[in-house]
Order: sequence, then C-alpha cells, then structure tokens
Amino acid sequence: MQHFFWILFHGKTLTNSQRDVHGLTGDVSCPRCESGIEDVNHLLRSCRVSIAVWENISRGVTTSTGFNDELDSWLASNLCNGKVVNSAPNYLQFALSLWFLWKWRCNKVFDATFSVHQSHNLIVNSFSREWLKANFIASAKITGFITVA
Ligand SMILES: [Zn+2]
Repeated sequence: MQHFFWILFHGKTLTNSQRDVHGLTGDVSCPRCESGIEDVNHLLRSCRVSIAVWENISRGVTTSTGFNDELDSWLASNLCNGKVVNSAPNYLQFALSLWFLWKWRCNKVFDATFSVHQSHNLIVNSFSREWLKANFIASAKITGFITVA
C-alpha cells in the first residue's frame, strides 16, 4: 500500500493515459467502464465504477468535500479526516478505498473476467479492522501494554 501512495503522490500512477504518454499503449480508455479516458482523476473519482465504490464505502462521508475539488485537495482533506466511521478513522478507510480502487483496476486489467464484489464496504471495513488490530498489537508491544507469549 505504501508503494501505491508513493506512486500516486509522485504522479507516477500508470493509468492508461500515463502509459500512452510513455508509448506503452495506444488505448487510453478505462478498462473498467470502457467509456472514459483513464487518468488518475477518472480512476479514483469520476469512473462510474469508482463512484459506486465511494457510495458504497463512504456513505457520503469521504466525499464531504465533493468531487469538484482538485484531486490533490480532495486527497489531502480526506487523508487528514480523523472522524471515526464504522469504528475506524475516516482517513484509514479512505486510504484503503483508494488502494482497493487501484488494486481492483489492476485485477481487471490482468483478468478480464474480474469483477468487483458488490460489498465494497465489507471488504474495506474488514481490512480497516485488521489494520487497527495489527497496529494496536504493535503499539502495545512497544509500550508494554500487553504481554505476548
Ligand atoms: Zn472508468
């Protein structure tokens, strides 16, 4: 996931429009909806597949700044949003959602039969809980809060 965010924030996400710039493809269309030019904004926000994921995952919370903001502002405001939703900080669910959008997009590229499970929120919530649990345990080990056998 760190690798994805490094690529995203350095403008290196290999969407089809970026791949076209580098001569890696002549097809800039979105592999998921096949109706838009796949750039980062389309990948993460304007694709109908992404919109469905956001609606399912966020229930409007992570889109509180709207999709009209510049992409960087939208990313920053949501990654700094510490409001707790479904027992997890909003920034965690937002970050996981971004990562899953990329992961599912890549799955679709390499497997044309791949389709995103309809319960996006359950998948993201499950990973959120696992992340929090793993980080609580790691944090507790450091502080000596719990004893690990
Ligand atoms: Zn699309």
